Amino acid sequence: MKDWQASAAALHDGGLRRMLIDGQWCAARSGEVIEARNPADGTLLATVPRGDARDIDAAVTAARNAFDGPWSRVTPFERQALLLRIADRIEAAWDDLCLSDTLDMGMPIQRTLANRRRVLGMLRFYAGQAVTLHGETIPNSFPGDIQSSTVREPVGVVGAIIPWNAPIAGSIWKIAPAIATGCTVVLKPSEEASLTVLMIARIMQEAGLPDGVLNVVTGHGAEAGAALAEHPGIDKIVFTGSTATGRAIARAATGTLKRVSLELGGKSPVIVCRDADIDKAVPVAAMAAFANSGQICIAGARLFVAREIHDDFVARVAAYAARLRIGPGIREETEIGPLISARQADRVAGYLAAGTREGAEVLTGGGRAEGPGLAAGHFYQPTVFGGVTDEMTIAREEIFGPVIAAMPFDTLDEVVARANATPYGLAAGVFTTHLGTAHKLAHRLKAGSVWVNMYHAIDPAVPFGGVKMSGYGREGGREHVEEYLDTKAIWINAD
Ligand code: NAD
Repeated sequence: MKDWQASAAALHDGGLRRMLIDGQWCAARSGEVIEARNPADGTLLATVPRGDARDIDAAVTAARNAFDGPWSRVTPFERQALLLRIADRIEAAWDDLCLSDTLDMGMPIQRTLANRRRVLGMLRFYAGQAVTLHGETIPNSFPGDIQSSTVREPVGVVGAIIPWNAPIAGSIWKIAPAIATGCTVVLKPSEEASLTVLMIARIMQEAGLPDGVLNVVTGHGAEAGAALAEHPGIDKIVFTGSTATGRAIARAATGTLKRVSLELGGKSPVIVCRDADIDKAVPVAAMAAFANSGQICIAGARLFVAREIHDDFVARVAAYAARLRIGPGIREETEIGPLISARQADRVAGYLAAGTREGAEVLTGGGRAEGPGLAAGHFYQPTVFGGVTDEMTIAREEIFGPVIAAMPFDTLDEVVARANATPYGLAAGVFTTHLGTAHKLAHRLKAGSVWVNMYHAIDPAVPFGGVKMSGYGREGGREHVEEYLDTKAIWINAD
């Protein structure tokens, strides 16, 4: 077993980390910093620059110069080779990157490590895409020899803003398609979790990414983030975060009509039919909601169970939840790490109180987790509420904490209507052994992803994203690359 604690001390020593603008590692122009603290015990890991509009402006200028300059002459083969080199270096640094995320945002080390296949797969998938971009020759109906064709061009300078709940995958998901298509990037990580993103930027620089192609400006959302969203030098914003911030970003982008892709929040349903394989469904349904302490956009937080099996199934999910090992993410046995911050812990506490106040019953959990080594962190118990109705706050709003709202249902028509009765549409889960039910529900549920007899699957080649207020645009797959491209029509009169 690896001594993660020893590696941790060497990795983050409390010192200043610099941000990357135009190939230079720099402090904020204001000279101010933000503290990065370990949510498991409050220790100071590092400080990062508190970038603001002036730093964003410098980063956008650098990204524009790179886009108009040398980067525009880099060939698809070279961009592919660069992505493959980055993948190799990320692979070599994998343990340190995972440890950094675990320290900075609390995710259990076993979970960060388990993302390896997906993250390296993403880099290599986009490397493949880099050499497949092409337009079409399209017949037109003009008389004479007039030829029409299309070319695909990079959209330009991309402003990327990401949340704190998955910094490694989240940042690479934004940067890799930009490199593949020939765009340049100004990335603002979350003020809650910037450290690993800065490490990734350094790895990319060392792998040969030219100056200005990737700029990382750390800072607060209302300062650096807002400045990026409204900057006239940005051609496209790609955002992952809450629906409320997504709305603010869409509004800010209207000034210059920049293109926008939004990956937002959710309140995803998990439907357990009476013919489900219960032994298999219990752990998957539980972890659909509890993985990463519920701090996942696709968390399956509304658990609809067929009335005939409801009480037994929910009791088994509650028993499973009660056995989950809570602790600092750096312990290899930990299954439930801390919430990211005191603010997030207060938010979850507020929802737990609302659940009880509105008449739901706590079947397990219900509050802070106590125990050795937990006092200084933001640890919450995995919680299952029974007796929930659709109108309750805990059944309607995204909690972003380890909370399941369990409810019985009687018919498929009814559960589809109730599952879809939400402003969100990010994901849904179905458990059934009946093929017809699987097809019926997969087609009728309004969500960007539907998983049947599984949950959480995200693959580099398969599009991911939301409908309704869970956002628009897709990440993953060919559709993701399209988000970073414009189409130009070319007409030639050959007569
Ligand atoms: P958040 O919206 O508070 O912050 C996300 C990012 O936006 C951060 O970098 C923040 O600094 C920045 N930001 C905040 N205000 C801004 C503003 N006015 N202008 C520009 N940028 C601003 O979200 P969070 O709390 O960091 O993350 C949790 C949310 O993210 C949840 O709602 C979750 O569902 C969502 N999320 C969605 C996905 C997805 O793929 N759909 C994935 C992960 C998280």
